[in-house]
Amino acid sequence: MSWDIASPPIPAMGRGRVILVTPFPVAIQVLDVWKSFQTGLDVLKGFTFSVARGEAVVLEGPTGSGKSTLLRLVIGAERADSGTILVGGTEITGRNTPQLAAIRRSMGLMVQGMPLLPALTVAENVALALRAVRASPRDERLRVYETLKAFGLEGRRDAYPSHLSGGEAQRVCLARALVTRPAVVLADGPTALLDRATTEGVMAILRDAHVRGATMLVATHDADLASRLGARRVVLRGGRVDDGSRAGDRG
Ligand code: ADP
Ligand code: MG
Repeated sequence: MSWDIASPPIPAMGRGRVILVTPFPVAIQVLDVWKSFQTGLDVLKGFTFSVARGEAVVLEGPTGSGKSTLLRLVIGAERADSGTILVGGTEITGRNTPQLAAIRRSMGLMVQGMPLLPALTVAENVALALRAVRASPRDERLRVYETLKAFGLEGRRDAYPSHLSGGEAQRVCLARALVTRPAVVLADGPTALLDRATTEGVMAILRDAHVRGATMLVATHDADLASRLGARRVVLRGGRVDDGSRAGDRG
């Protein structure tokens, strides 16, 4: 099934309720992907995995194993040396900039290389994501308010990114990714800088998104996250899926 780039699936908003539009069975497919950087190091060596629509997958692996690189490949921010990456049935390689922008707008992204805009406040940064999916001004105000509240950020709504702690900035990035209630969520280390209490709240929000039907691909070091999300674990090691992950699936 192919996904018409001209009209990517976007969440339809109205009266505080959201209808998810997800016309594809396999959300993300990564087939025999190789990736190296100029440093000569092979990061991914024939990496293959897929995420079904509505499935949650947690990508684990040691630091430097390529988790962040993989997420950036999936959104076309990096280019694979070889292999195939399909998002919603559409091949990412070879897409032009507007097409990639449309694909990214249809997803909730908290990935490396997408910092908060420094000239905008917390609330404005989050609202911008809603504007990209053409929410009405009324929906926009309501959703920004509800989302910041859920993340415990209501007191920081008028702060600028340079005045946020690392953990706060991380939560704003995740709030920005989830505010549109996207059908597909990609998050890189969503709990990495958070204390225990805050982590609990963020895990609950991620779980809600998944229960609502969102497809989730989350890179993390946090061993609790997979079980809390009810996610399938994929371990990335030595550039491939570590077969040990299958034992983990049973447990
Ligand atoms: P992880 O997220 O699992 O910690 P990364 O994907 O960030 O791993 O990095 C994987 C490897 O690729 C690391 O050795 C890192 O130094 C290297 N790497 C990542 N991005 C770049 C880049 N833009 N240029 C050169 N090397 C990179
Ligand atoms: Mg990383």
